Amino acid sequence: MAGSVRAVIVVLAGGIGAAQFLRGLLTVSGDHEVVVIGNTGDDITLHGLRVCPDLDTVMYTLGGGIHADQGWGRADERFTVAEELAAYGVGPDWFTLGDRDIATHLVRTQLLDAGAALSDVTAALCARWRPGVRLLPMSDDRVETHVVVTDGGGRRAVHFQEYWVRMHAAVPAESVAYVGVDGAQPAPGVLDAIASADVVLLPPSNPVVSIGTILAVPGIADALRAAAAPVVGVSPIVGGAPVRGMADRMLEAIGVPVDAAAVARHYGLRSADGVLDGWLVDTADAASVAGLCADGFAARSMPLLMSDLDATAAIAAAALETARSLR
Ligand code: GDP
Ligand code: CA
Repeated sequence: MAGSVRAVIVVLAGGIGAAQFLRGLLTVSGDHEVVVIGNTGDDITLHGLRVCPDLDTVMYTLGGGIHADQGWGRADERFTVAEELAAYGVGPDWFTLGDRDIATHLVRTQLLDAGAALSDVTAALCARWRPGVRLLPMSDDRVETHVVVTDGGGRRAVHFQEYWVRMHAAVPAESVAYVGVDGAQPAPGVLDAIASADVVLLPPSNPVVSIGTILAVPGIADALRAAAAPVVGVSPIVGGAPVRGMADRMLEAIGVPVDAAAVARHYGLRSADGVLDGWLVDTADAASVAGLCADGFAARSMPLLMSDLDATAAIAAAALETARSLR
């Protein structure tokens, strides 16, 4: 790169899958600047507090504050406030906020109420956590992922958190809507980061309610198509199932088979109005590589379980290597 400008790796991120991947990436990214574009479709207001689960999972994980076994929320957490709310009979009882976590949401809500944009608020929170990446929300505008279900309450749309956390995705999702997305703009810095990127990576995040939401913000998918940088993704589906969570439910809702190659084809090739150049699948899905390559994807297989930091770093290094081979 010319002058003192650092080369940029852009990563589109959901929560747990992305945060794990980013930990590995930061061990192999050298002197690149890593810019993370985070999903905010999961955000919710609880007890008057604005909660941004995916941004916080990335921030806490990279900043050393995450509850490691859980993969979300704070380490060494206490639940005094939640117990007091329960004593008042004040819900929802299906989404518990820990005391330490509440401090984050208090700071965020106070700054938002004072008129700050979510991107500025996120930067302010990151000044404490120093995650080692530039964390940008996909948009400063409110976008909420809703899921249409039919259950005892009839046919209705529920907030993504209610579907995921209260209902455990046990009822089939009929469709997914990103409410507010049509009028949303990418947050400041998002399009510039993509345009100036040397590499764009899609970590193993949920293709529908993490990456899909980010790509639905007007301008972001177009920016990926126009980018000089190669775009390489890592499959969140291994051997026909999500590694963790219920991404299968979300893929069913949009009619995409729960299969690593099918997810790549859903994203599509950049040369054919899609967003991808390269795609990593697990060794369990090695048989799909030839077909993907024949279709034009730079595809390869390798172990994709982020079982520890070394394994995760190897996945990130392979994604960077694939990108380099495309430049
Ligand atoms: P969320 O917002 O917390 O649900 O997190 P993400 O959207 O970032 O990531 C969820 C996805 O990560 C799920 O679809 C999982 O299948 C995937 N995932 C979790 N752990 C692993 C892993 O070790 N390897 C791979 N390849 N995918 C994983
Ligand atoms: Ca999420």
